[in-house]
Amino acid sequence: MAWCDTCDRVVSDDEAIDGRCDRCETELSGAERGPLPWKFRLMIIATVIYLAYRAYQGVTWLLH
Ligand SMILES: [Zn+2]
Repeated sequence: MAWCDTCDRVVSDDEAIDGRCDRCETELSGAERGPLPWKFRLMIIATVIYLAYRAYQGVTWLLH
């Protein structure tokens, strides 16, 4: 998986063509499987926090 700065999205190995984005043909920065870009990590962290919050809400709703 790699990150395309131009499209602001994750480009999977299947989509990437010769290390380039299939949409804009930008050379992909994370082509050598470097660490995930911070935007992607932030998105995952936000999702986890949101789900934890929803789970907490669900539990308190059940208890009342
Ligand atoms: Zn792109």
